[in-house]
Amino acid sequence: MLKEKRALVTGSTSGIGLAIARVLAAEGAEVILNGLGDPDEIAALCDEMGATHNGANLMNPDEIAQMMADIGPVDILVNNAGMQHVSPVEEFPPEKWDAILALNLSAAFHTTRLAVPEMKAKGWGRIIATASAHSLTASPFKSAYVAAKHAMAGFTKTIALELATHGVTANCISPGYVWTPLVENQIPDTMAARGMTRDQVMNDVLLAKQPTKSFVLPEDVAALALFLCGDAARGITGANYTIDGGWTAE
Ligand code: NAD
Repeated sequence: MLKEKRALVTGSTSGIGLAIARVLAAEGAEVILNGLGDPDEIAALCDEMGATHNGANLMNPDEIAQMMADIGPVDILVNNAGMQHVSPVEEFPPEKWDAILALNLSAAFHTTRLAVPEMKAKGWGRIIATASAHSLTASPFKSAYVAAKHAMAGFTKTIALELATHGVTANCISPGYVWTPLVENQIPDTMAARGMTRDQVMNDVLLAKQPTKSFVLPEDVAALALFLCGDAARGITGANYTIDGGWTAE
């Protein structure tokens, strides 16, 4: 389905981005991985998918510009890289705020602004953001993340309108809790911020949000991303698809 297409998936050495990269590669796309991690493990992922890897630190706009120049034009851009920090606002470290805004929001602006000219020239493109249920609703102690994800939804709607007549779509996918390292790593801070045990955080904070009482699977998010890359999704742009076990229906 995606033969002849080149796809950059940011933050694809782990979790949701890795699942998206795998499904795009399986459909024939030439995939460029991006993200941090153990070089041997990343090399194995490249072998598995016939992919290449660019290790740009997306918190640095100069590194993003260098990455986009090095990899050349892409048809599919998945702005997925992200991080979380959990803390009451008055204790929220300003450097964590800046880092989350840089990675979860500004990086997508920079990759997009540099990818769009070639997409417009070809008259075809797919821009997908892994946003979050937190692009639509808030939770306490996640001020930077919620701010960045709400902004991603606004950014995506804006570029969807700008690109609407160019064959380029832009959409958000907004998962609820997906079992990945990003979720696992926030459990200790949430235990501290809320004075809870690990089990209480799992059941009373995380899964409490999801009426299905189960985590979303990275592969299910990837299947939705693949659909949005297909021709049948040509009329879908500026949308924000939840895949959150019913969280935002409440
Ligand atoms: P993850 O921690 O498993 O993966 C994050 C990826 O981003 C990794 O590949 C990591 O190397 C990369 N990354 C981190 N810092 C980077 C940097 N400075 N430069 C380049 N790459 C960097 O996380 P995940 O759960 O797969 O999250 C992926 C996206 O999905 C994020 O935007 C996240 O906010 C969003 N999301 C996750 C969940 C969830 O429950 N896991 C829910 C909703 C939205």
